[in-house]
Amino acid sequence: MRASPAVRRMVRETQLSPNDLIQPFFVRPGKNERRPVPSMPGVAQLSIDQMIKDARAVVALGVPAVILFGIPEKKDPAGREAYDPDGIIQRAVRAVKSALPDLVVITDLCLCEYTDHGHCGVLRARGRGHEIENDTTLELLSRTALVQAEAGADWVAPSGMMDGAVGVIRRALDGAGKKNTAILAYAAKYASGFYGPFRDAAQSAPSFGDRRSHQMDPANAREALREAALDIKEGADMVMVKPALSYLDVIRRARDRFDVPVAAYNVSGEYAMVKAAEAKGWLDGPRVMEEILLSIKRAGADMILSYHAREMAQRFHDR
Ligand SMILES: [Zn+2]
Repeated sequence: MRASPAVRRMVRETQLSPNDLIQPFFVRPGKNERRPVPSMPGVAQLSIDQMIKDARAVVALGVPAVILFGIPEKKDPAGREAYDPDGIIQRAVRAVKSALPDLVVITDLCLCEYTDHGHCGVLRARGRGHEIENDTTLELLSRTALVQAEAGADWVAPSGMMDGAVGVIRRALDGAGKKNTAILAYAAKYASGFYGPFRDAAQSAPSFGDRRSHQMDPANAREALREAALDIKEGADMVMVKPALSYLDVIRRARDRFDVPVAAYNVSGEYAMVKAAEAKGWLDGPRVMEEILLSIKRAGADMILSYHAREMAQRFHDR
């Protein structure tokens, strides 16, 4: 059954295509700016005009969606630019929706890219340290969801793992007549070392402490299903597992358990490992990229957020 390419095509169980891919972009202020991210070869922080140029290219290759992360003009303790109607992401969404109305635009919905301390919510002093004030943060997240939806985001993607965030955001959107704005919940987001390069890219590393108090322990899989079930109950239209590669079992279990679409985030560290080994001549980069993306699909992901999206779509195009 493996004798020829034609037979292999006939019995192939998993088909990967550009339709499976979502391209992330880091958007920064300015014009004509393209600042490469050293730990992620091929990825750059882009000004809005440059992001639209790249978005056009991925659309031409058949990629249906992008997710936008913002690098604000300035950061403050309350992450104000996240919920400013003229914040970087809101401007980016308006521009990309007017240039490419059919492109599905997803907005990352968290405060950590906008807070000067780099945490995902508002902090309050407690004992000798700090803790995230969950309920104040929820209020700011629903304001952020509203301005993103108002700007034209098709889906919002709460990524901070705050308790109750999905429900609060769903109610806020419905209350503002934004019933068609979907929620892609980062349901199972692990406290992972694989996010390192992203924090360079989004300049969002916490200035102290870490995110272990609200992100998941890499040792737990059943807990991921509980988190996903809660998010679905609160109104999530889709659930995400992040990272992807070390959590393929979690993707599979989520796929088997739930009927909503499952997304997987092939994160920055996973991307960086491939690029670094490729640069050293230790791996066939494009081949490994395809194998990784295929494995995530095989594990059960309906959609894959990946920095490889454009390159993979180009590979399909060139075949
Ligand atoms: Zn965050």
